[in-house]
Amino acid sequence: MPFKPNFDPPAVEPASALWFIFDKSRLLIKIKNDISSIPDTSDLAKYKSVILRKQYLGILDDRPCFAAEFAGDLIRDTQLAFKDLRGLFGMLEEDLIWIAGRANQLVNWNQSHRYCGRCGKLTVDKTDERAKICPQCNLVNYPRLSPAIIVAVLKNDRILLGRNKRFRLPFYSVLAGFVEPGETLEECVKREIREEVSIKVKNIRYFGSQPWPFPDSLMIAFVADYAGGEISADGSEITDAAWFAKDNLPQIPPKISIARQLIDWFVHG
Ligand SMILES: [Zn+2]
Repeated sequence: MPFKPNFDPPAVEPASALWFIFDKSRLLIKIKNDISSIPDTSDLAKYKSVILRKQYLGILDDRPCFAAEFAGDLIRDTQLAFKDLRGLFGMLEEDLIWIAGRANQLVNWNQSHRYCGRCGKLTVDKTDERAKICPQCNLVNYPRLSPAIIVAVLKNDRILLGRNKRFRLPFYSVLAGFVEPGETLEECVKREIREEVSIKVKNIRYFGSQPWPFPDSLMIAFVADYAGGEISADGSEITDAAWFAKDNLPQIPPKISIARQLIDWFVHG
């Protein structure tokens, strides 16, 4: 059964409940016989007092899922360890990775909205939806989402790929950028491509979307056609960009990302 999100926790908390606990952006993982999993309530009995600000996430296969922060000293435990969330791709089941991403977003949001941004009072959780409200001035804050476009630009049989300064690994990918207030997604696609590599695009069409919880993006993917100009990488965000043929691709991003799904679509489509 797929994960069913919900903000309203069950009355009883079974021992089988799963806990997505973060220390900064690192997730607490149970490792037994080299198999990684998410700890349940019984695994965490001795850490109860240092697991703070719990939030209910929803239910996975009849098991309630919670997110929380860890406020203790580094755990010295033979079976529990904190791991970088991105490093867990391929080590945890994909369902669990996406729930962990959701949990990471909510933990970050919870931490940064404990006080009202308008009047400074302590906020409280709303009871009828996932939001925080200020008891003094009634300001409501919803979990933050940052929409970003990502686009495969095609020219004849080639795809535009660029090397972003922020990539930790030396790969090339399709270009992406955050949506600005007042902008449509299509306007954002045109602006980002113009700013990053100085070319024009046309025939922008929707491809798909993916939450990207590092820390709170929603990636909205498009395909577009080249419409003019010469590639010139901006140098500040994109250090190099070029057209690549299917049989001559550089190193590309890992499977789990929608960037890779766009590139795979280009290769196999
Ligand atoms: Zn307030």
